[in-house]
Order: sequence, then structure tokens, then C-alpha cells
Amino acid sequence: MPVDVGQPVWQDLQSPRDLSAAERRLLETLVGAVGDPVLQRQLNTAAVTASCRCGCSSVRLLSEGPPVAEARTRQLSEVDRSDHVQVDAWSRTPVHPDVHVVLHVVAGLIAELELFAGEEGVAVSAAELADLTGITVA
Ligand SMILES: [Zn+2]
Repeated sequence: MPVDVGQPVWQDLQSPRDLSAAERRLLETLVGAVGDPVLQRQLNTAAVTASCRCGCSSVRLLSEGPPVAEARTRQLSEVDRSDHVQVDAWSRTPVHPDVHVVLHVVAGLIAELELFAGEEGVAVSAAELADLTGITVA
């Protein structure tokens, strides 16, 4: 199966770390756009377990759950999937005018926060991101 350009390749951290303040703010906005209390609750225990090998600022997430139910996931999914929802948004920093921000919810759990500035290996400072725009849930 071909690997999509920009698809993260994870490097596990030696031990999980807390979300940075900027990561937490992004996730609160993205999860807030979904408006599901189960997902909201996952933020309380969310931690970062891996970073992307390519050098971008994407992170893999782990939370204690509980997961969003499959039936609810299917309601949120635009393509009728019971195992995946993604929340897309756009932002910018002073150096990157177009940053694509994506939260993946896998099997009902917040799983990945991608920060993609147009090509692989570009680090984006989450702390410098402007407010998210164009948020969609699919
Ligand atoms: Zn990457």
C-alpha cells in the first residue's frame, strides 16, 4: 500500500509527555467543534506518546477514554465509517501561511494531531499558530 505524502511515521517517545499548552488549545478547539462530551472528556487524560520522524510537528496521542461509541462515530463520519472521524482546520504562523491541522479520532479515541505546512519535514510552532479557521468534521 503506497504511503501518502505527509503521512506521519511515528517515533515513540521514551515516555509519554503532557500536551503542551499550545497543543491543548488546538485540541480543545478541534474537539469543541465536534461538540461531543465523550471526546471532550478524553482531553483530561490525553498525553503525547510519539512524534513524527519526518521532522514535522505532528504528534500521536493517547487518552484513557472512554471511546466514542461506534454508532456515534458513524453519525459524525461523512463517509459512514464507524472507526474514524477527522477534524480538519487551517491556520498560519508568521512563516507558514497555510498550515493544515487535522485531528484523527481512531476507534473512538483521539489518536493523532497533524500539523502540516505544505511539505514533509517542516516543523510548525504550535504556539505561533493563529486561530483555526474552516473547521470541518468528516
Ligand atoms: Zn511528519
